[in-house]
Amino acid sequence: MFIQQIDAKVTGVSYELLGKGRELAEKLNSDVTAVLLGHNVGGLCDKLASFGADKVVLVDDAALETYTTEPYTHAVHSVIEKYKPEIFLFGATAIGRDLAPRVSARVHTGLTADCTKLEIDEESKLLRMTRPAFGGNIMATILCPDFRPQMATVRPGVMKKILPIEGAKAVVDEFNPGFELNNKYVEVVEIIKKVSNKVDIMDAKILVSGGRGVGSPENFKLLKDLADAIGGEVASSRASVDAGWTEKDIQVGQTGKTVRPSVYFACGISGAIQHLAGMEESDLIIAINKDESAPIFDVADVGIVGDLNKILPILTEKIKTEFA
Ligand code: FAD
Repeated sequence: MFIQQIDAKVTGVSYELLGKGRELAEKLNSDVTAVLLGHNVGGLCDKLASFGADKVVLVDDAALETYTTEPYTHAVHSVIEKYKPEIFLFGATAIGRDLAPRVSARVHTGLTADCTKLEIDEESKLLRMTRPAFGGNIMATILCPDFRPQMATVRPGVMKKILPIEGAKAVVDEFNPGFELNNKYVEVVEIIKKVSNKVDIMDAKILVSGGRGVGSPENFKLLKDLADAIGGEVASSRASVDAGWTEKDIQVGQTGKTVRPSVYFACGISGAIQHLAGMEESDLIIAINKDESAPIFDVADVGIVGDLNKILPILTEKIKTEFA
């Protein structure tokens, strides 16, 4: 699988892929190989072993210092040509979504994008790649019987990483296919990093999420107050993002982020399938909705039927006084 690193820091989804890779490899009596690209990144290999890689194919070259499409495509393509894997996985990050289709076209195989489930078919031993289709109304399971590798991108936050294995050492295979600058190579002139002091909702342990039922951007203050009182972060449904009340980077769901917090408050969220796809793995779901037949109550562990404008301030006050 493709290991994404930026500034020599491995992106979380790559560890999740290694965890899933372990499970798939065991079913196939095969090995997990991490493909690590970059410049001066060899120091990451043992960490990849501790998260489940049996072997690391390391392509270390100055041309791979920062991500650009052409050299990365050339490198992954060359690795696939040399090692001929049965399965090749990418994280469905911005980089993975740019790289995977190019690689799949170059090696002439299919690509199932944005998978939420991967498993091995007991009989055929093919990879069953499942993803939402037709606007999320059905889950489609896709097979790639005729071409290799079977390729998929996987959404961050969906698969689970394994607990790190202490002291694991990677078997490293260094490989360099050679890079020749040509007119397809994009030159990165400057990198301007987005500075944000916000916590990524994918890392938050407690999320207070609001939907159309919150009613206005100002009313999100009720959610922020609760989040502050319990050390959580505010998230939202797509309806709130589309209404311009909240930023896209806190959207939960099929076209937003997949989250697994310890506690997820769904406030004024109906529970559409596309929203559930991003949060139903949360440990404890607390739903507040004035409609007792809202589908969110089907997945909620605790359901409160009522007006969030009344319930949220009471809850926040209670938490503040009880836990002050
Ligand atoms: P609504 O469905 O309008 O629900 C509002 C809820 O608030 C209702 O249940 C109502 O009873 C309740 N309510 C109203 N007032 C109050 C009050 N005062 N107190 C308590 N409850 C109240 N959606 C996502 O969230 N994330 C996605 O990533 C996503 N991706 C999508 C991708 C595709 C391809 C498509 C087609 C749709 C996608 N959607 C996504 C949209 C999704 O189908 C729903 O339209 C959306 O989730 C609805 O958001 P909502 O629950 O906030 O709003």
